[in-house]
Amino acid sequence: MPPARRIVPGLAGVPDEVDVVVVGLGITGAGVALDAVTRGLTVLAVDAHDLAFGTSRWSSKLVHGGLRYLAQGQLAIARESAVERGILMEVTAPHLVRPLPMLTPVNDAMPRSRTAFTWGGLQAGDALRRSARTTTRTLPRPRRLNSTEALGLAPALRADTLRGGLLAWDGQLEDDARLVVTVARTAASYGAHVRTRARVTSATGAGVTMRDELTGTTYDVRARAVVNATGVWAGGLDEQVRLRPSRGTHLVLRGSALPHTRVAVMVPIPDTTSRFAMVLPQPDGTIYVGLTDEPVTGPVPDVPAASEAEIDFLLGVVATAFTTPPTRREVVGAFAGLRPLLEVAGTDATSDLSRRHAILTSTTGVTTVVGGKLTTYRRMAQDTLDALVAAGRLDADPCRTASLPLLGAAAPDDLRRTTAPARLVRRFGTDAELVLATAREVTGLADGELLAPVSEDVPATLAELVFAVTHEGAHDIADLLDRRTRVGLVAADRTAAEPLARRALELAGSAADAT
Ligand SMILES: Cc1cc2nc3c(=O)[nH]c(=O)nc-3n(C[C@H](O)[C@H](O)[C@H](O)COP(=O)(O)OP(=O)(O)OC[C@H]3O[C@@H](n4cnc5c(N)ncnc54)[C@H](O)[C@@H]3O)c2cc1C
Repeated sequence: MPPARRIVPGLAGVPDEVDVVVVGLGITGAGVALDAVTRGLTVLAVDAHDLAFGTSRWSSKLVHGGLRYLAQGQLAIARESAVERGILMEVTAPHLVRPLPMLTPVNDAMPRSRTAFTWGGLQAGDALRRSARTTTRTLPRPRRLNSTEALGLAPALRADTLRGGLLAWDGQLEDDARLVVTVARTAASYGAHVRTRARVTSATGAGVTMRDELTGTTYDVRARAVVNATGVWAGGLDEQVRLRPSRGTHLVLRGSALPHTRVAVMVPIPDTTSRFAMVLPQPDGTIYVGLTDEPVTGPVPDVPAASEAEIDFLLGVVATAFTTPPTRREVVGAFAGLRPLLEVAGTDATSDLSRRHAILTSTTGVTTVVGGKLTTYRRMAQDTLDALVAAGRLDADPCRTASLPLLGAAAPDDLRRTTAPARLVRRFGTDAELVLATAREVTGLADGELLAPVSEDVPATLAELVFAVTHEGAHDIADLLDRRTRVGLVAADRTAAEPLARRALELAGSAADAT
């Protein structure tokens, strides 16, 4: 059967043989599917739940230049991050990644040695940017600010002790799950079969057995290579893979909790030399505060939970920098994700475990790709396919993804000139018109209704929810509110948006069934 060219829930009609089966549709699996299909291979990529069900939706939504790795002396990882950041911002996803100004306030409590160390790090980060050939138009050079300039960017900062600030730039995603959906949709547009609600129950290098979670039907698919991209669950599919997950927690605040904060604020964590809590304003008007690094043991939960101790810790750090610090009551949401860190012999602290990706082929023939981060997904996929080709398992064209724009990609100046609704352009780039045209066609409704936000605090629209069903494989309210949009990060907002999500499923349901 020819591929649907759209993402579809369930396994009805999947081929019984392909070149590559990809297990897991977080950023890693979506990236592998895109790399493989654009090298001319036939691909089936599946997720037990939904696109971006796992760690990929719980990130800080940053596209890092690798400064943290530089501080640890890991130059190669740092440079790889900087190169991939440049590719995302200038070639593959300029519609989904924006320059984010990041301000480190310098106050009386910050030792001069720490200020000098931080400034040196920012300079080194800028050298990485230059070596990755990312332009200053995309990411301006760091600079020192006086206290008036710093307060102009973040007026909620404590003014009495402020001496100035250090300003630097990094990449910020519109949304992490949206990147995953866009990569997966791009893979589908090139002909990959992309299926959700499809759990792999056993795998070898020659194929998989899968269960359609909608019908319970079992399918066997033969393949020349099977890639395990199941993140923190990788050990469940291949027991030779050993992970030591660590939990990272973020808080969600309304923008009004730290009014007029237009930049990310890096708040030094007291009694450390180079660790910061980040205050991250989001495109939807909320603010995230993150993040922690807690080793976890025991079974891997489907959805990890933030602990009260982590919430108190983050509020405590942020309180040191702002005049009226956010209170516990102003925390309208919290989310936690598990980093899929590979166990490295002789290391205890998870912050020291390898954060580079690894590609491992077990005795069963399954190839696991694990570790890394959202920023480096493209390189992880390239390395995985290159390894399979080098091992003689696949015969494929060279990697194309470094110069292959994702669906909707366009330069920021071009996007500014489009007349489509701003929210849709931010989330779909040049596909904003397609989103609106699809919603009009499927529902017959007027633009006023299709583009009305759920509420003042919740900018999601019926148009994008309908498109999520027709083109992005959304199957239920959770897919729509927790992954295609991120309304679900605030429980009260999710409740407010449920009727609109239900309406989208009703209006688009029959159209989705027809694909
Ligand atoms: C708190 C936190 C903050 C982070 N912040 C950043 C950041 O700002 N920038 C950055 O670049 N990186 C960041 N990272 C790292 C990044 O988020 C992860 O490295 C990345 O998302 C891992 O993606 P993945 O696809 O490997 O795993 P996942 O996203 O977990 O995907 C695995 C998928 O496999 C599926 N699956 C599992 N078992 C099966 C099965 N048997 N059959 C079918 N499917 C299955 C799951 O449903 C899941 O969807 C952060 C990580 C954490 C934890």
